[in-house]
Amino acid sequence: MNKPPLVLHICCAPDEAWVVNTLEKHYNLFCFFCNPNISPQKEYQFRLQEAQTVANRFNVPFFSDPYQPDSWEKAIEGFENTPEGGERCKRCFLLRLGRTAEFCRKMNLPSFTTVMSISPHKKISLLNETGKIAASNYDVNYECFDFKKKNGFQQSIILSKKLGLYRQDYCGCRLSMAERDLRKRRQQENLLKKSDHG
Ligand code: SF4
Repeated sequence: MNKPPLVLHICCAPDEAWVVNTLEKHYNLFCFFCNPNISPQKEYQFRLQEAQTVANRFNVPFFSDPYQPDSWEKAIEGFENTPEGGERCKRCFLLRLGRTAEFCRKMNLPSFTTVMSISPHKKISLLNETGKIAASNYDVNYECFDFKKKNGFQQSIILSKKLGLYRQDYCGCRLSMAERDLRKRRQQENLLKKSDHG
């Protein structure tokens, strides 16, 4: 069968694994890892390595953008205090999907999408909006998938466990890491309060 080509923007291995597993029968896939948002660098290297491992396992070509965290800092400058899912994330999506659209154009491939729609924490409307803007800037197509449908998120957890993949507990940037730490501290404080009253 002559499968149409599709570039997949990859943010992490667990999301990648389920999406590649779902799409590989229907598309000629090209994985593109582009995440200047990820901090610290050690975490970036680890997520990159895991993503490469998944692509090798499924025998899909894998490419990665050079790590340029300054480009992310510049993109979100002035919006550091907006909550997750707001303007900061919109700018982060635009940066990563813009680079993916540029990659698509350079490779002379017609379409791309992102595996990020599998996450219940990412607004599908924001992903589609930024994906389409990025695509039109480079005269390519953005395919609007929603991989969390048909239980996709749960399926990705099951598959990533089976493959022994690392699953991070924060989105990626230094701000989401600080938000995770705050959440953990609050949970611990609440537990302590409960045990005091118990
Ligand atoms: S929370 Fe996630 S999507 Fe939002 S800015 Fe940080 S890394 Fe990007």
